[in-house]
Amino acid sequence: MCKSGIAGAILSSFSAPESVYSGMYKSMTSKTALNRIDSGYLPYHWDLNIYRGCAHRCRYCYALYSHDYLQGGDFFQDIYIKENIAECLEKKLRSPYWKHETINLGGVTDSYQPIEAVKKIMPDVLRLLIKYRTPASISTKSKLLLRDRALFEELARVAGAHVAVSVTTLDEALRKKIEPASSSTKERFEILEAFRGTKVMTGVLMMPVLPFITDTEENLRDLFRAAQAAGADYVIPGLLNLRQPTRGHFLNFIKTEFPEVYEPYLQYYSQGQDKKPYRESVYARISKLKKDYPLSPKKNPFPRQHGQLELF
Ligand code: SF4
Repeated sequence: MCKSGIAGAILSSFSAPESVYSGMYKSMTSKTALNRIDSGYLPYHWDLNIYRGCAHRCRYCYALYSHDYLQGGDFFQDIYIKENIAECLEKKLRSPYWKHETINLGGVTDSYQPIEAVKKIMPDVLRLLIKYRTPASISTKSKLLLRDRALFEELARVAGAHVAVSVTTLDEALRKKIEPASSSTKERFEILEAFRGTKVMTGVLMMPVLPFITDTEENLRDLFRAAQAAGADYVIPGLLNLRQPTRGHFLNFIKTEFPEVYEPYLQYYSQGQDKKPYRESVYARISKLKKDYPLSPKKNPFPRQHGQLELF
């Protein structure tokens, strides 16, 4: 059934087998599978989120705002499952008007957060993308993606697939503080390695670079070295952007866990602060590292048919 929208979501309790999940999850039905995005800077125009909210609990999570459109609750604790997403997606993809544009899988959630091990929605989504020859991109922090490796490889053969991992540090103690419930950074790089020699394009989203915490030469070098070793096709860095409600959530975290940089954070993220000098210094460091650790990207197998994939 594919009939009620997010605003009018039908919510009911969902009981996952693992007691650890109890109380966190709610089912909902969705009107449409895809959200149209015309940002002007993203290399795709469609986004598909099979969940709302995310149990990975990254301290800097940029997507907290997305819960404002639901019936409230905590982004990390009250997670909605779009039970009818595959049905809605097929309705869209089988339309004669569908242009086979790239779909991003999870702009405001991680499609492979822990509940996906139980729900297994992603395999259905990937089978539909294969059936309707529609390219897709995804970014994750979870090794669970490898469960569906064969499906990504098949999608790459018939339409095009980009698999990226987002990373901030290889320092596990630090990673556990800022991304407490995701796979280790090493495991994320292993995802990319698993696609070596396939048609799947692989990338590293080196973001967000956290000022005064993960912006050191040593940390950035470790990540570039690991990206090269894992055979990544591209690396895209990005600095931390604090918009509400992430701003309050993250600054509270900094105050508690990194009090020594709390004042510099308040100053750097204050209104009217000229961020250009700092931004330029970080990007200068990154440009040098890009030269020190050159990548050997594979040729995009569908450059003409699906030009937008080239923009990664
Ligand atoms: S994995 Fe992404 S969506 Fe999930 S908490 Fe982290 S930043 Fe937010």
